[in-house]
Amino acid sequence: MFQSLSDRLSGILDKLTRRGALTESDVNEAMREVRRALLEADVALDVVRDFIEKVKAKAIGQEVLRSVTPGQMVIKIVNDELVAMLGSDTSTIDLNATPPVAIMMVGLQGSGKTTTTAKIARRLTERDRKKVLMASLDVRRPAAQEQLRVLGEQTGVATLPIVAGQNPQQIARRALEAAKLGGYDVVILDTAGRIHIDEELMQESVEVRDIAHPHETLLVADSLTGQDAVNVAKSFDERIGITGIVLTRADGDARGGAALSMRAVTGKPIKLLGVGERWDQLEDFHPDRVASRILG
Ligand code: GDP
Repeated sequence: MFQSLSDRLSGILDKLTRRGALTESDVNEAMREVRRALLEADVALDVVRDFIEKVKAKAIGQEVLRSVTPGQMVIKIVNDELVAMLGSDTSTIDLNATPPVAIMMVGLQGSGKTTTTAKIARRLTERDRKKVLMASLDVRRPAAQEQLRVLGEQTGVATLPIVAGQNPQQIARRALEAAKLGGYDVVILDTAGRIHIDEELMQESVEVRDIAHPHETLLVADSLTGQDAVNVAKSFDERIGITGIVLTRADGDARGGAALSMRAVTGKPIKLLGVGERWDQLEDFHPDRVASRILG
C-alpha cells in the first residue's frame, strides 16, 4: 500500500527542498500537485480539500517562506497534517470492561472478517494472555462456522460449539453465556456479512449488538476497495455504531485512499492492519509511522 503515492509525494516535495528559497506561488504549485496525487490515490475529495487548506494555512507565511530551510518546513507541515488526518494516536483494542468483554466483528462478506477474528483472538491469547472464545454468527453460510472452527483449532483458540438450527441472536446469547460460565476474558462474535449492505444485514447486526452490548465493534474493511470501504464504514457506523476499523489486505497494492480517508470521514480510528492471510499477519496502526512511510 502507499507505494505509488509515496513516490509521487517524494518527487513533489524533493523539488521544493532543492529550490532553497520559496515563494507563495511555489507552495501553491506544490500543493496543487499534492492534491492531484492524493485524489489519484483515491482519498475522499472533502478530506483532500481540508488537508490542502490546512497545509497551506500553515505553510504560506513569512515564518516558513523566510526560514533557512523552507522546503523542510513545508515537509514537516505536510507530515504533521498527515498524522492528524490518520488519527494522531495509535489506538489499541480496548478491553477495559467487566469480563467477558464482547467484541463484535462486522463488515461485508469477503472483507476478511473471519480471518481477522482469528488473528485478533490469537493475538489476545498469545500476547495479552487473555482467555478468548470465538463464535461465528453466520448461519447463512454453514461453511463460515466451520471455517472459524478450523481457524480455532489452528490457532489454539476456543470456539463455541456449532449447534445447527440456531439464529444469530440465539448464538450470540449462547456465546455470552458460555463465556461467562467458562471464565473467559473476551468473547469475539464474528457476524455474517453480505456482498452488499442491505436492510436485513443491518437489522440483524443491530439485534446482535443489543444482545451482546459489545465493548468494541470493529468494522473489517478491504483496503483494495478504496472509497467503497470508506462508504461501508460510514454506513455501519451510522447504523450500528462502530468503535474502530481493521483494514485488511494492506499487503496488497491498494492505493491508500481508504487508509487515508477512514478516520476523517468516519471519526473512528483504524486500529489494526491485516497484512497477509496468515493468522500472525496483523499489525498495529501507527499514524506517525504510516505518515513517515508515505513521505519516504
Ligand atoms: P469474510 O468473508 O469477511 O469472513 O472473509 P475471510 O476472512 O474468509 O477472508 C477472505 C479471504 O481474504 C481469505 O482468502 C483470506 O485469507 C483473505 N484475507 C483476509 N485478510 C487478509 C489480509 O490482510 N491480506 C491478504 N492478502 N488476504 C487476506
